[in-house]
Amino acid sequence: MPTGLLGIEELSRGEVEAILHRARTFQPLQHQSYKKLDTLRGRMIVNLFFEASTRTRTSFEIAAKRLGADTVSITASGSSVSKGESLVDTLNTLAAMRPDAIVMRHAASGAPYFLAHHLAIPIVNAGDGTHEHPTQALLDALTILDHKPALEGLRVAIIGDIAHSRVARSNVHLLAKFGVDIVLCGPATLLPPELSAIATGVTLTNDIREAIEGADVIMMLRVQLERQHDPPLQAGEYFHFYGLRLDHMALAKPDAIVMHPGPINRGRELTSEVADFQQSVILNQVENGVAVRMAVLERVVGAHVEAARQKSGAVRESGLGI
Ligand code: ASP
Repeated sequence: MPTGLLGIEELSRGEVEAILHRARTFQPLQHQSYKKLDTLRGRMIVNLFFEASTRTRTSFEIAAKRLGADTVSITASGSSVSKGESLVDTLNTLAAMRPDAIVMRHAASGAPYFLAHHLAIPIVNAGDGTHEHPTQALLDALTILDHKPALEGLRVAIIGDIAHSRVARSNVHLLAKFGVDIVLCGPATLLPPELSAIATGVTLTNDIREAIEGADVIMMLRVQLERQHDPPLQAGEYFHFYGLRLDHMALAKPDAIVMHPGPINRGRELTSEVADFQQSVILNQVENGVAVRMAVLERVVGAHVEAARQKSGAVRESGLGI
């Protein structure tokens, strides 16, 4: 069984709660002048990014360093992938250097799952194609809980390019575990009907006003042009129908918060007024990314060490070990 973190779908509600609980203990550390712990001292974390990233890559690196680990960051353009090496060979090469965990982002949905079954090192999925982005959903949940007493009973509107969003998918899996009322909204071509089958609380609409009506949380998504071969709407049309403006906020609950995983495209997905609005928590999401990734790295490295310890104990007991 892989000991990393691949997706939210496989986690139980209790596991999600345990990660959020641990992440909360790391939040105050981000405000101290001395920010380093030694929980993972002597450990090595490799960040392997085959797709662009600002927030995720940086915060995984900062999280590992704040836990005292050493880190190495590799991007596809600077690695032998650009010389034609296969994904499996690249990962086997890195694994031979004995890191304690590999954090990876890849454009192919399922890539980390495939590799996790071939490598003995824990893999943390930092986004696989259009499939999952588990640490984003965890940091989103932590951010919601910084502003709302509980997830249960909330109405969360997720608006935009749902079809290509691993953020939407991971959030639906996470929020559904807590019985959240989830409304997915976007143009019909970007709104896959099968997502409503994930849980009974998931509904779909093409009407942004209907989605925002009574929402406690409005989560905007980026239009993933890099994954759209034939964009259904031009930028101006998209903004007209699905861009979030300040006047939309009157439809939501008065204390509704606005979220976005970033990178934001002002004037396409939301106006600057909304992005910089006092109820926008976009930068709080970024800040919580470090605390959540600390909790995740500590957990996956700890679980792996424990699994190895049990295995060597079992081998010794059976008389086969040294
Ligand atoms: N940063 C998020 C992701 O990697 C969202 C986005 O790129 O739109 O999925």
